Amino acid sequence: MRKIQMVDLQSQYAFIRPQVEAGMKEVLSSAQFINGPAVKSFQANLENYLGVKHVIPCANGTDALQVAMMGLGLKPGDEVITADFTFAATVEVIALLGLTPILVDVDPTSFNIDPDAIEKAITPNTKAIVPVHLFGQVAAMDRIMAIAKKNNLYVIEDNAQGIGATHTTATGEKIKSGAIGHVASTSFFPSKNLGCYGDGGAIFTNDDKLAHTLRGVVNHGMYERYHHDVVGVNSRLDSLQAVVLNEKLKLLDFYNERRKWAAMRYTQAFSSHAKIITPTVVGDCDSHVFHQYTLRVIDTDRDALVKYLQDQGIPCGVYYPIPLHLQKAYTSDQYKEEDFAVTNRLIKEVISLPMHSELEEEQIKTICEHVLAFMN
Ligand SMILES: *Cc1c(COP(=O)(O)O)cnc(C)c1O
Repeated sequence: MRKIQMVDLQSQYAFIRPQVEAGMKEVLSSAQFINGPAVKSFQANLENYLGVKHVIPCANGTDALQVAMMGLGLKPGDEVITADFTFAATVEVIALLGLTPILVDVDPTSFNIDPDAIEKAITPNTKAIVPVHLFGQVAAMDRIMAIAKKNNLYVIEDNAQGIGATHTTATGEKIKSGAIGHVASTSFFPSKNLGCYGDGGAIFTNDDKLAHTLRGVVNHGMYERYHHDVVGVNSRLDSLQAVVLNEKLKLLDFYNERRKWAAMRYTQAFSSHAKIITPTVVGDCDSHVFHQYTLRVIDTDRDALVKYLQDQGIPCGVYYPIPLHLQKAYTSDQYKEEDFAVTNRLIKEVISLPMHSELEEEQIKTICEHVLAFMN
């Protein structure tokens, strides 16, 4: 049996090595490292895959979020509502731009932002909602889009963990995550479902005017060479990363199917255990691409379980151990603990098991045996 890892990028690389190396050699000999043909073809391939009009590649997923907010023209004092239970990048860029982050609680079933909590948090200063498709599951987008429409708000999807998931609307229409809101961001960090071999990210939108603005923002606010119309940033995806992404995009659906298969195996092993809550897929089976497989353990010393697994050589993770509203950088006197009851509970109960497209039956069995040995 191969060594069990949280993600196994070496085994994944072994399958695509000839294509990736040939593509990289081409970039090296052409020396078109920035904005080369590989970047342009990746952009077009991703637009086609997502069914979205515009993909704007950039340097990482955090930049993608920041640029999306800059492109929408959000101004200091504007309030942006996002989830308390997520990775800090989401709230970081809101604060960095001088906007006011408003953190709200999540739903205990999906781990995603709670639409009722969003509605409660709306004020006359609210300008945008940032749902995060946490752990790969599409947030409650029908309700979120309806709330946004009613209150005239932008929706910025943080799709860093959800790429490849499909949302089915109430009317049965199928839309890829990241193509639902006004604009979306994603990350190609190596461990993401679609990851490159360094940093990378992208912004998506169906809005032609916004896409034009975003292309300028990522390029020093420049729409005509050496004319800087707005304050921008320098955020580019390089050609070598685009080579990797072009190869991996062809396999993204296969990778996500492998993740779903591993998730199903885990759930079969744990679903009858009284103290383990397995992840719930709220929508259709294609609405969750299992960036993480996250259990909740009830009446259990979660940290002792983490230590036990680590001692047995089974890697695991706690995403996330501290709610954002209690982080020194993002805490506020305005927050009341009772408004974060779900997050405050989840941070003590969650544990994420190894999840990637190369997991083997035998590895999953071993992981399950160790988890159950501790829990029983
Ligand atoms: C990974 C991630 C990001 C940031 O992406 P980077 O490419 O590392 O900057 C943002 N939001 C979420 C939810 C993420 O998981």
